[in-house]
Amino acid sequence: MERLAAQLAATATRPWTLMEVCGGQTHAIVRWGLDQLLPEGIRLIHGPGCPVCVTPAATLDAALDLARQPEVILCSYGDMLRVPGSRSGDDLLGVRAAGGDVRLLTSPLQAIALAQSHPDRLVVFLAVGFETTAPATALLARQATALKLANLALLPAHVRVVPAMEAILNGPDNQVQGFLAAGHVGAVMGTAELQGLVQRQGVSVVISGFEPVELMAGILRCVQLLEAGESAVANAYGRVVLEGGNPEAQQLIEAVFEVVDQPWRGLGVIPAGGLALRPAYAALEVGHHRPQLLEQPQPSAAQQPQESQEPQHPPVCIAGQILRGVRRPCDCPAFGSSCTPEHPLGAPMVSSEGACAAYHRYRPN
Ligand code: SF4
Repeated sequence: MERLAAQLAATATRPWTLMEVCGGQTHAIVRWGLDQLLPEGIRLIHGPGCPVCVTPAATLDAALDLARQPEVILCSYGDMLRVPGSRSGDDLLGVRAAGGDVRLLTSPLQAIALAQSHPDRLVVFLAVGFETTAPATALLARQATALKLANLALLPAHVRVVPAMEAILNGPDNQVQGFLAAGHVGAVMGTAELQGLVQRQGVSVVISGFEPVELMAGILRCVQLLEAGESAVANAYGRVVLEGGNPEAQQLIEAVFEVVDQPWRGLGVIPAGGLALRPAYAALEVGHHRPQLLEQPQPSAAQQPQESQEPQHPPVCIAGQILRGVRRPCDCPAFGSSCTPEHPLGAPMVSSEGACAAYHRYRPN
């Protein structure tokens, strides 16, 4: 680490601002104090790479409405169960405490067994995540269709990372000159999408791992590219990421989902920022399956509202600015006082990948 930090200091001749896209990387950076090892002028800002944080409030509100229905078993990944909705302030665990049937899954395929063992109930899987979890949801959709399961439905909210990176670059308050791209997304998608981004935007992108030394090596490589005036994709996570990614996972995504414009919480509608079920699988979407169960019919991803119409976090919460890297968690007046992991006001404090949770855990003052 010291050698890499010294190399970085010797390389940088001017200030540079880099964004690590992934919330897992944010946690590692804050936990190990990597940002404090950087030479003066090299600044890391935190990106929107936390699927729990960017899932639109409208989707979460729909999940809460569904979980209150006696007919429904609502299931999702653990962190999603603790994100407050926008209308009542309830989260899914609160709905469970009030009698709703809410289950935590570690794999979407567990929803199949749940549906088979509860034929008189409707199992709804709230499907969130980036290209890393989309293949498993695609597999669930395929298996549910093949098994002709009539009591399994999806509330899909999968998002795509590269369009979000492009939206940040195109934003009026953009500060990013180089990205550290998430290694696990790269392991699935390879480098092709990032090459397109680099060619369109003239930015430098380095795919990085999650260990401290891998992150420091990624930062050094990115600064080397910037200092050389090169717009390129570099892979500093070669032990995991292949140029072509994982073709089987890509084929699964391609077969089940189509690319759509999608709202991200805090970032507005991102062109090509999401994945919707293809027509062949659309009957699995809960809005098609049992529209009467949604108080307000859940719009398809392509029909989602603009940011201004989207239910927001409480007014004090600056999650949108944090997800764009414009401000830091400690800039929020509620940080550590009215907003804590035990009583979160916004998703970035809930999620194990959220930036506010990272600062609260590792750098509370
Ligand atoms: S500290 Fe809490 S209220 Fe403030 S931005 Fe983070 S999640 Fe929102």
